[in-house]
Amino acid sequence: MGITQYSKQDPSVKVAVIGGGIMGALSALALADLGIASAWYAPKEEARSDGAQSRNYALSPGSVQLLQKLGLWNALAPKTCTVTRMEVFAGSSRLDLSATDAGTDFLSIMVLHQDLLDALEQAVQYRPTVGRVFSKPDLLETHSDCIAITTNSDTRKVQLVIGADGQKSWVRQQSKILWGQRDYGQQGVVAAFKSEHAHSGVAAQWFTPKGILALLPLADSHELSMVWSKSPNNISASRLTESLAEEISELSENRFGRLELISSIQAAPLKMMLTEKQIGERVVLIGDSAHTVHPLAGYGLNLGIQDLLCLIGIFESGHQDLGALALLNQFEKERHFKVKRVQWALDLLQRFVNQSHPAVQRIRSMGLELVSEIGPLRQFLIRQAISPQ
Ligand SMILES: Cc1cc2nc3c(=O)[nH]c(=O)nc-3n(C[C@H](O)[C@H](O)[C@H](O)COP(=O)(O)OP(=O)(O)OC[C@H]3O[C@@H](n4cnc5c(N)ncnc54)[C@H](O)[C@@H]3O)c2cc1C
Repeated sequence: MGITQYSKQDPSVKVAVIGGGIMGALSALALADLGIASAWYAPKEEARSDGAQSRNYALSPGSVQLLQKLGLWNALAPKTCTVTRMEVFAGSSRLDLSATDAGTDFLSIMVLHQDLLDALEQAVQYRPTVGRVFSKPDLLETHSDCIAITTNSDTRKVQLVIGADGQKSWVRQQSKILWGQRDYGQQGVVAAFKSEHAHSGVAAQWFTPKGILALLPLADSHELSMVWSKSPNNISASRLTESLAEEISELSENRFGRLELISSIQAAPLKMMLTEKQIGERVVLIGDSAHTVHPLAGYGLNLGIQDLLCLIGIFESGHQDLGALALLNQFEKERHFKVKRVQWALDLLQRFVNQSHPAVQRIRSMGLELVSEIGPLRQFLIRQAISPQ
């Protein structure tokens, strides 16, 4: 079966999803699962300048459950890596967080952006109620009973538009939703390494004066994905290439032995983006179009998936008009404070771990030692980390 091409008006199509990334594809699939027909505006992703295609996501148990429910897991599972332990280092202190401590099977499951997107695009092909449009829309016009989307002079009317078009969202701009951002003055540098020692499903993170370094396990037992949040925000990836493997082996105190660079190096500026609200007239924003966070907790995509789970919950009870103000208000009410709470908590954490003052560094180390020694506190932190809401 090929990808459904949308070309003509079809009144059974109630929703338009705009955005060709993971949140866009997931939204189209989730709607199909509810029996809601959609038009998915998703040009094929070209080489992205923000390095997203090299990212390795730490999926929380709630996110994994949604992928399982949508029937994606059989194809994805062999390409993933289950994280059962996390090691956190700050100066001479160390904290071990394990799934068994918190009574869960795993802390997170790592999956590569491209593997996840390929699996989603493949699954969409088998959903006859998803019509994929391979171009970006040109115009959005809201009316009292519908919203019209024009692409290449072709106009379609639907009840609701889901904006899943990323941090620089066109839908957000068209809907005049106010937003602001905090620039962290850092780059998120992403690369992959072959490691001398097997990772055994351990994810490790170092808070160092040279930035926050995370080495995350990949499906191959000797491959790791790196996210290094480092200042300043104008370093060029090519300048890092020569010495990167050596520098990271050193910063990670050879935790996984000698490292060999096996990918290109991608870097993107890190920003927290906040929106005044996630809804407009017959519009709802989900994922990075509505919020971004610092990657130190690997939480951005999971936060987007929680938006979608909330929307699914609202739609599940069946409604005549999916773009009705009452439904959108319900979504906004359920998501607003939860999203802001995660954003500000991660912002606070980022500020705290980036302090170079010796007194703060000492408090940081003492904090890790304290958590290390107090079992219930450790369990609480793990539960918050894998399912903060
Ligand atoms: C360094 C780094 C590491 C990260 N690590 C993690 C992690 O471990 N775990 C985690 O959960 N999150 C992580 N994140 C966050 C995660 O990458 C994002 O939250 C997630 O990719 C957002 O997905 P999205 O689909 O909302 O947006 P995007 O990935 O930005 O996708 C938007 C898509 O819409 C398309 N588009 C844009 N405009 C239009 C238009 N007008 N019409 C149609 N399509 C359009 C774009 O081409 C793109 O394909 C990390 C982020 C960074 C920066």
